[in-house]
Amino acid sequence: MGESVSQSSLLAWYAESKRDLPWRHTRDAWKILLSEILLQQTQVSRGIGYWLKLVERFPTPHSMANSDVEEVLHLWQGAGYYSRARRLHALAVDVCMPKAKGGFDGKLPRKSTELRTLPGVGPYTAAAVASIAHGESIACVDGNIRRVMARQNRLRNPQPLEVERWAQSILFEDDAGSWNQALMELGATVCTPKRPLCSTCPVSSSCQGLENPLDYPQPKKIKKKRMDLQCALLLDSNGLPHLVQRNQSGILAGMWGPFMAEKIDTEGLHPLGQIKHSLSHRDIFVEVWTGSCQHGIEPSTVPLSALDQKILALGGL
Ligand code: SF4
Repeated sequence: MGESVSQSSLLAWYAESKRDLPWRHTRDAWKILLSEILLQQTQVSRGIGYWLKLVERFPTPHSMANSDVEEVLHLWQGAGYYSRARRLHALAVDVCMPKAKGGFDGKLPRKSTELRTLPGVGPYTAAAVASIAHGESIACVDGNIRRVMARQNRLRNPQPLEVERWAQSILFEDDAGSWNQALMELGATVCTPKRPLCSTCPVSSSCQGLENPLDYPQPKKIKKKRMDLQCALLLDSNGLPHLVQRNQSGILAGMWGPFMAEKIDTEGLHPLGQIKHSLSHRDIFVEVWTGSCQHGIEPSTVPLSALDQKILALGGL
């Protein structure tokens, strides 16, 4: 590894240039955890609205543990990866258990090692929450930091352990939370995957890859899988759709929507059209058929995924 990243340059740049994001105005570990879990798979610009709704309705682990998981799913609708919402609810329940029963008496644990024992909390989320909320001296490693590390050191395929050691070796221990956020912010806004802004980068002096940054790290070729489904959008005499709750596992875990399967019985139904829905690793094509049913449900009363909202919109709902 070459010259070390300048801590003072990066921190000064961060203080000056960081985006004004609502979770950066709190040290409340629960609210920071909500932001980290949302941002695992939702873009920052979309995540802000979800975060504001979540912290308003669930300002503490207790408020979520005492609510129905359906309500969490409802607030999560449209954000995707719904199993996150289910695990978050399970986490709140675990945290609110008494200490004697293995819980944390309603308070999120402070240490990253304890946070990692909770549902849905991996090494990244635990390090982010513990460093940002409590200043624990632990480095975060996410995709942004891996890219900065690969470019700084001209590495095409750095392994997770190498990235972790690098991140820990350059950590600014007096304020690990700001440091972690600064490095991630650099990756998100300056050292971006396709158009790195090396001429304005605060740590270009230590960067070995700045002449050809796009070579580092080697891009992973992700071939999207295709999934073909059929869906029956059945409407009652008032125009309300028949909706069912999906299985508790899988990409639409626990959300509601019209009946959908690889192959449905289309006898007596009429073709309505096709929906394409893209996720990060998968393109879903849904052939939508319509027909009638006895009793429908008002869609706003149940949590619906973005895919299901598209299907209902195709039926004019
Ligand atoms: S100089 Fe360019 S490649 Fe190197 S860290 Fe900065 S933005 Fe990334």
